[in-house]
Amino acid sequence: MGIRENLQSIRQRMAVAAERAGRDPAEVLLVGASKMNDAAACRAAIAAGIDALGENRVQELLEKAEQGAYEGAPLHFIGHLQRNKVRQIIGRVDLIHSVSSIPLLEEIDRQAEKHGLVQPILLEVNIGGEESKSGFAPQEVEEAALRARELSHVAVKGLMTIPPVEREPHGNLPYFEQVYRLYIDIGEKVFHNKLEYLSMGMSDDFEDAIAAGATIVRVGTAIFGARNYNK
Ligand SMILES: *Cc1c(COP(=O)(O)O)cnc(C)c1O
Repeated sequence: MGIRENLQSIRQRMAVAAERAGRDPAEVLLVGASKMNDAAACRAAIAAGIDALGENRVQELLEKAEQGAYEGAPLHFIGHLQRNKVRQIIGRVDLIHSVSSIPLLEEIDRQAEKHGLVQPILLEVNIGGEESKSGFAPQEVEEAALRARELSHVAVKGLMTIPPVEREPHGNLPYFEQVYRLYIDIGEKVFHNKLEYLSMGMSDDFEDAIAAGATIVRVGTAIFGARNYNK
């Protein structure tokens, strides 16, 4: 199947999941996780109506941007971000999902100030407590949110999570529910209920993420097909 057909079928599944949860399908954004897919595939997804594209690696993003991969849609950064690469993406990305430490937060603020802009960001939550993953522990999120609130060149729009790899069907639902509660809690305590983005759910579990309250799902394989790691 092509990208357009895949996108249509995902939109349909998203709508069913939203309606089943008593939610408006229009309040959930579909971000195409386009890593390892070329500029033509990105443009095809944009032509088919994707809400935004999300990249994981700074180098790949810069190369594909050069080729016009992202024209016509917002661009998000969703991968692990090193502090020394921040300056390469500020001014180019509409939302950074993966702010995983206070030093990274401060560096984004510094670089955004140089560009004279306010960078929209999400705080990443390491909900499974996995050493292999970045992100704030649930009990650290409030402190990070308070620090972010003091910085005038970052704007926290919500939370993002990547739960542990789950082999059981619906195995991630409890993680999604925990992050949703944290999102509501932090929103109330720190942001006057003004958060708008809860980024969670990928190809295998976006319906459960929507059931738990996600407002952004990040889908790669189900749109673009399996990634070829040998290329
Ligand atoms: C690759 C990736 C996705 C999408 O994963 P799929 O399983 O291919 O849908 C989502 N979020 C992040 C951060 C990713 O790196």
